[in-house]
Amino acid sequence: MKFVGAHVSASGGVQNAPLNAEKIGAKAFALFTKNQRQWKAKPLTDEAIEGFKVNLQQVGIAPEHVLPHDSYLINLGHPETEGLEKSRAAFVDEMHRCEQLGLKLLNFHPGATLRKIGEEASLDRVSESINIALEQTEGVTAVIENTAGQGSTLGYRFEQLARIIEGVEDKRRVGVCLDTCHTFVSGYDLRTRDACEQTFGEFGRIVGFDYLRGMHLNDSKPDLGARVDRHHSLGQGKIGWDAFSFIMRDPRFDDIPMVLETIDDTIWREEIQALYQFSTE
Ligand SMILES: [Zn+2]
Ligand SMILES: [Zn+2]
Repeated sequence: MKFVGAHVSASGGVQNAPLNAEKIGAKAFALFTKNQRQWKAKPLTDEAIEGFKVNLQQVGIAPEHVLPHDSYLINLGHPETEGLEKSRAAFVDEMHRCEQLGLKLLNFHPGATLRKIGEEASLDRVSESINIALEQTEGVTAVIENTAGQGSTLGYRFEQLARIIEGVEDKRRVGVCLDTCHTFVSGYDLRTRDACEQTFGEFGRIVGFDYLRGMHLNDSKPDLGARVDRHHSLGQGKIGWDAFSFIMRDPRFDDIPMVLETIDDTIWREEIQALYQFSTE
């Protein structure tokens, strides 16, 4: 079965996110559990935690189908000690917030070299950062998102995702989220069914579908291989509908949260419906 939703607003408190998901007919969703552009956040209140759990149950979405996203400031592959320490502490805090909310996944972008260390050295730092976070937490899986490869960011090749996973001690609590826009702009074609077969086949061989814990469904403004991160509404960008129809009919994408991060939230309900249409055809 497929579980589709969007990255919904948690403004006014995390407890509002499940209600916002329900409004658009979502069976899955993503959220920020704190302001994604700030380092510091107040701890979640008991009311917010309780409210979130009650609302989640009320809208009938399973904790396994919620894919929280961490702060954009965190760089787990940071080349400098101070930045690395700060990022690791913030990441552990994000994991704790997921634990408090009874959630099972935390989605994050692996990191960036800032052109101060080599890519492999930075990837190894990411693995070590994950090890540190998993040691201090329970029940939450670290879900590495592939990136557009913009600037000095890492995780734009499947081999890089595989390398990070290789360095993680507890393989049961590490996974991957594939963002279709990032996949495409980092150089993997998705424009036809054959191209999807090829790209996801390569993902299966290099990383493995056992590690796939989530999807971000986005079309792309830039062209194949542009390494620029600009999302578009489904069917309106350079990827086109074929990729989304392919994914919705392929059982390798069953039972994981699939989340829209498309640019026009007023059509999320229609986009979700259009996606479900493919899986029932
Ligand atoms: Zn994404
Ligand atoms: Zn993106």
